[in-house]
Parts: sequence; C-alpha cells; structure tokens
Amino acid sequence: MPQVSTAATTGVPRFRSVLDRMVSYRPSTAPPAPGPTYRLAANESPYGPPDAVLAAIGRAAAQANLYPDNGCSALTGEIAERFGVGADQVAVGCGSVGVAQTLMAAVAEPGAEVVYAWRSFEAYPILTRLAGATAVEVPLRDGAHDLDAMAGALTDRTRLVFVCNPNNPTGTVVPAGRLRAFLDRVPADCLVVLDEAYREYVRDATTADGLELAAGRPNVAVLRTFSKAYGLAALRVGFLVGHPVVADAVRKTYLPFSVNGVAQAAAVAALRSREELMARVETVVAERERVRGVLSAGGRPLPPSEANFLWLPLGDRATAFGEHCGRLGVVVRPFAGDGVRVSIGSPDQNDAFLSAAAAFGL
Ligand code: PMP
Repeated sequence: MPQVSTAATTGVPRFRSVLDRMVSYRPSTAPPAPGPTYRLAANESPYGPPDAVLAAIGRAAAQANLYPDNGCSALTGEIAERFGVGADQVAVGCGSVGVAQTLMAAVAEPGAEVVYAWRSFEAYPILTRLAGATAVEVPLRDGAHDLDAMAGALTDRTRLVFVCNPNNPTGTVVPAGRLRAFLDRVPADCLVVLDEAYREYVRDATTADGLELAAGRPNVAVLRTFSKAYGLAALRVGFLVGHPVVADAVRKTYLPFSVNGVAQAAAVAALRSREELMARVETVVAERERVRGVLSAGGRPLPPSEANFLWLPLGDRATAFGEHCGRLGVVVRPFAGDGVRVSIGSPDQNDAFLSAAAAFGL
C-alpha cells in the first residue's frame, strides 16, 4: 500500500521541513494601557516625512493604477549620484531586508554556510534557514563583533558573511582597521555584506565606512535603508552598493515590481531632502546621549550606542522590564534572558521611557 503522509491525512499542505523549526514574526505590542502608547520597539524615526516627500508620495499615489518602474532607474540614479558610485553598482529592493533576501537567493543553497555574529539582526537566521543554508552564529564579545572568531569560522562552504555595523541590538560598531584586517582574511569568492542600516547615526570617527571598504573589493557589498534616518519604514525601500556583478545578481533575483512606485518616488524626494532629514538625525543622536546619560547617572553605566537605540543588558530581568514598560504604554523590545533594546524617539517618548525605567528602579 502506498504511504500516505501525515500532511495528506490531516488535510493541510505539506511544507518544507525547515518551516517546522521556525516561528512566524511577531512584532512587540503593548497591552492596552490607560494613557497613550509610545512605540520604541522597531527603531523607527519619530518624525513623519517632510512636506517635499509627502508631496512626492501624493503625486506617485495618483498613478497607483500603473505598474512601477521595475528597474527603479530614477532612484538608482539618484543613489549613485549621492554616494559617488556608478549606477551599475546600485541595486534597490523591498527594504534592505528584501535586498538581503535576494542576496541569499543569489548565493545560498543547501550545504552553504552563512556566518554572522549573534546576537544580531533577527532577520539573518530567518533568511539563512529559508534559503536552506546553514547558519554559523559567532557569539558577540562584550556586545561587539568578534572578528577573529568570525574569521576562524570561515570554511570553504561559507558563501556569505553578515557584519551588522552598528550592530542591532547592541549598538556597537566595528573599527575600520579591524574590519579591513578581517576582510583581508575572507576568501575572494565569499560575499561579505556590511549591513549599515543605522549608518547615519554613527558619531564614532573610528567606525568603518562600508562604502570606502567596498570600493576595490568585489566581494564586499553595503546595505543601506530608507527605513531609519530617512523615515520611510512604511514604504519598504532599501538598497545595495557593491561591485556591478553583485548588484546584477540582486537584480536577477529581485521579485518583479517589489519596490512600489510610491516608495521609489518618496525615496528620491527623501534623498533630495537630505539636509532636513539629517538635522532630525542630529536631534535623535542628542536624545540618545541624553537618555543614556540619565540611565547611567545611577552609577550603572549603559554601553554606548552608535545607532538610534540603546541596549540595556538586563539579563534575566529583560522580560520583566519589557512587560513593565508595556503596562505603562511604552513598547520596547525585550530579548528574554539577554537584554532590552529601546529605540530613541521624540523627547516626549524618551521621557515616557525614562519614567518607566525609573519606576522599575533603573
Ligand atoms: N538591517 C538591520 C540591522 C536592521 O535593524 C533592519 C531593521 N530593523 C534592517 C536591516 C531592515 O530594514 P528595512 O528592511 O526596513 O530596510
């Protein structure tokens, strides 16, 4: 008698076995609180788009009946000009996480290894497993990338390495000299992805600049996003700068039309509103230092952060602190047993967080 699979007998489709080991994404939410809710869990910008960007969104929305430019040519050209690279070195995607997924589709397959630090951005393990590849997680050292250990983890099966700089959620950065030395140890056929989603918030001058390091290294590519400093998280647009061969691989694996027309127009307008947006980034950086100063005043210094969030290494108290904040309407991102990441918002939002932290005894 032919074997009938469990899935067939229970009447649900049979999925790839890798899905059995995955949980679907659940964003942080707060239980209903009596007062307002402060969203400090997703590292979003606290500011809505500037008027020029809103106007561009309106114009593009009026053409919502038309398919977008699949090649994102206006945006690609604008990015190339802004960053001083060739248009053939730029590839746009549905968020930088969308670009990362296309890179996975380009290089990863069963048997391939993907190396990244842990703890780091939560999408890396998901994308790696979905690609059928093997995740090689290298523990952070004091909250920062341990590049020696990462170099030691490379094998002839390693196809991609993520370096998240600044690192989400710890906010640490990799100094330029150390990253250069690391890149010298990576085989030329292994792609290194420098994820710089938070680059605009970096003030530590020793931090590696991905665009500088990628120039002249065909196996190094940089990911940037419009979701954070440019304040367009809802529109889902990010991009890669790298060697033309890498950008081309992204274009080949790009889900057709996945960067919508409103997003493309908004991103072009945001690049042209750069000065105004970078002034807002300056406010967020000042607020980051203010919040860190207040939290450190009690004698327990908080680690510095070069991103638009702070990391509170609370260990076993992380979940309790996350729940406590939630009850007060402040939504933060706890990682059980490890720490809590809190985004830097507007001064009011940050004050609400600071009162919640004080009430917890921090
Ligand atoms: N990289 C890092 C390190 C991130 O923290 C995030 C967002 N949380 C992203 C990439 C994804 O950004 P997006 O897809 O919105 O561009």
